[in-house]
Amino acid sequence: MTPGRPVPPPLARPLPDLTSDSPTPGPRIAAAYGATASDSGLVPLTVARRAPKEDDVEIAIEFCGLCHSDVHATRGEWGNQDYPLVPGHEIVGRVSRVGSAVEDFTVGELVGVGCLVDSCRECDSCLDGLEQYCENGMTGTYGSKDRRNGDATTQGGYASLIVVDRRYVLHVPESLDPAAAAPLLCAGITTYSPLRHFDVEEGDVVGVVGLGGLGHMAVKLAKAMGADVKVFTTSGSKIAAARELGADEVILSRDEAAMNAANRSIDVIIDTVAAPHDLNPYFRTLRVDGALFQLGLPSEDMPPVNPGALIRRRIAYAGSMIGGIAETQEMLDFCAEHGVTSEVEVVRADQLNEAYDRMVAGEVKYRFVLDTSTLGTPSERADA
Ligand code: NAP
Ligand code: ZN
Ligand code: ZN
Repeated sequence: MTPGRPVPPPLARPLPDLTSDSPTPGPRIAAAYGATASDSGLVPLTVARRAPKEDDVEIAIEFCGLCHSDVHATRGEWGNQDYPLVPGHEIVGRVSRVGSAVEDFTVGELVGVGCLVDSCRECDSCLDGLEQYCENGMTGTYGSKDRRNGDATTQGGYASLIVVDRRYVLHVPESLDPAAAAPLLCAGITTYSPLRHFDVEEGDVVGVVGLGGLGHMAVKLAKAMGADVKVFTTSGSKIAAARELGADEVILSRDEAAMNAANRSIDVIIDTVAAPHDLNPYFRTLRVDGALFQLGLPSEDMPPVNPGALIRRRIAYAGSMIGGIAETQEMLDFCAEHGVTSEVEVVRADQLNEAYDRMVAGEVKYRFVLDTSTLGTPSERADA
């Protein structure tokens, strides 16, 4: 793989010749890449996709972002993982078939699917548009029990097709580049949601810890909301790039003097680091009534939080998980309005394992995106 040289996507992608009154209805087999064990790496597989039920949308996937959560999950770093597992929850593609009751999506439309494909639809969280916090457990796009489809394990977007209930499908504005829009479906909404929850507006100072897939979206979104942005990074090599993304200040988090100089200067911190790290130095950079949202979910324990650091400035230490469906649509529309997309490096399916290693090593600016036209055909593969 040549870093920094995206594979140009094909100019025109033929849509599968299938509509709701297609002469060939029924389930379809998708070409996919996934893991068969925690140490298998990603290998060619197939996934059976159900025939669209009345509320279903079938999507011919064009691009799927590679999230660090995909690495954690496929490598079994979060424990209890069923295999085979096809990861991928930053999905953009075009509608290829719709069920008989679907009126809000049309064949050929550009759509997206993020981290969840179902939820109970009845609990307070679901009724409040917070499906990600469903009290009965959201159905993740991959690796979840599919509560309405025979309890099968859901399989994600490193695949040529996916079938999802219309309630969990997003409209992707046509003005957005499909490859660069794919990471919005996880990295984008995961950072947009806490920024909105904190009501970030012009003049606020936002800190972003970790300049990876999530972190670079947090910079772009906070800037688009009018905030001043300070980036904390462990990588000296990212200083110039962070400024190019719009950061007003870049602080090397291992430089104690620079950390001290940032004392009491920030309103809200979005922490996206994927590994255990000490949060106490970051609390000291917050003002009274500041908040730190931890978004990264390391597989090992974090160093303890010093309660005094929180108490002395009434600081809130919070978590946040992706976003609800309505908020995800709001984020996509916000991105179209403000011209915000992800910085991506498009990769082929046979580059996925190398891309994972490079992501763990922090060698991506800033999101790998799989071009699904490189997945090959479903023949002669094992089933996921
Ligand atoms: P990523 O692209 O790999 O970025 C993580 C960044 O963390 C790196 O670029 C690096 O930034 C920083 N970092 C510092 N020390 C590190 C270390 N020892 N190992 C790895 N990274 C280190 O990952 P991502 O896709 O943005 O995801 C970040 C985390 O968020 C993951 O744990 C992921 O599972 C989680 N996540 C959570 C949600 C949610 O809903 N809460 C959603 C998606 C992902 P610098 O080089 O700038 O220091
Ligand atoms: Zn993700
Ligand atoms: Zn629910």
